[in-house]
Amino acid sequence: MTNRVVLIGHPVAHSFSSEMQQAAFDELGIDARYELWDRRQIDLADAVEELRGDDFLGANVTIPHKEHVVPLVDRLTEDAGATGAVNVISRDGKKLVGHNTDVAGFKATLDRAVGKQKMPRQAVVLGAGGAARAVVAALIAEGFQRIVVFNRHLHRAEGLVRHFARSAAHMDLRAMPWHESVLESELAKTKVLVNATAVGMVTGETPLPAELLPPDLFVIDLIYNPPVTQLLLDAAAAGDATLGGELMLLQQGACAFELWTGRAAPIEVMQAALDRAREQGARQLPVDMGWAANANGGGGAAAATGDAADMPAAGGTTAGRPT
Ligand code: NAP
Repeated sequence: MTNRVVLIGHPVAHSFSSEMQQAAFDELGIDARYELWDRRQIDLADAVEELRGDDFLGANVTIPHKEHVVPLVDRLTEDAGATGAVNVISRDGKKLVGHNTDVAGFKATLDRAVGKQKMPRQAVVLGAGGAARAVVAALIAEGFQRIVVFNRHLHRAEGLVRHFARSAAHMDLRAMPWHESVLESELAKTKVLVNATAVGMVTGETPLPAELLPPDLFVIDLIYNPPVTQLLLDAAAAGDATLGGELMLLQQGACAFELWTGRAAPIEVMQAALDRAREQGARQLPVDMGWAANANGGGGAAAATGDAADMPAAGGTTAGRPT
């Protein structure tokens, strides 16, 4: 029986995970197939229920379902419970276990970005979805003392802050409205800036106007395609150190592979598969995904318009390139 692993999200057609994971299965001679399941939220519960079948090793969960999937699994690991978001499902008999390997993936990325320098203590996070939750969990675990979360829909950032109330009780974690003056003032006080929004996947789009970026920050963009987003180009021009999302993709994927198979992930093979996928060039996003039209073409914060009427709903139809 060929085993199955699926990526559940909306959209999924443009993910690099299938190339990366299939290469790893093939390298180790594991009889498994990685499938892409494009599922809207209304179909999410049925999709997760199907994973109880004997042929499934598990699943990846991606944009925009990482938070919605939490109540649909039987048990959460510590990282998944801490973040309130699941990006990997494994099976324990008929039981489904929810994990969050984005936390480890982001920690590796932060360590690479900071290098041998002293780990900073202040961060600004753009976005409040599943990925932002993993980022905040990792930053808290790293000992950050002040984290400010900006999101297009403020209430979602406020929900994130409430979720972390206990684990962040010793430090300053707060949500702030997405206004340029507020962003500028917070960026002047911070050391690390993380883009955990879906804005930047289309060449030229950026969540922040270039002129808001001060020098000497560590700027991390979770987006991995394009490998260098407009935000990273602007940050480098401003004198910041920059890193994209590919290492996080690789690390979270390696952790997921080990959870599904119990085997050590062939990291080099997975990296080579990502390199090949990247060399094939940028893939077009579906034209009906909506968020791209709201994002910046190189200036002005998308969220600053604050007009939810012409934007995808928070946690609903918002979409971007999935992990
Ligand atoms: P999600 O839960 O759907 O959250 C999407 C986030 O993007 C929300 O904060 C949303 O704001 C924001 N957003 C979307 N369109 C926007 C727009 N036009 N203007 C301003 N903000 C907008 O998705 P996710 O799972 O957190 O993923 C977020 C991004 O991280 C994606 O690009 C994903 O590919 C990337 N990611 C990369 C890795 C990796 O391994 N490198 C891992 C995880 C995620 P609202 O709440 O206001 O809608």
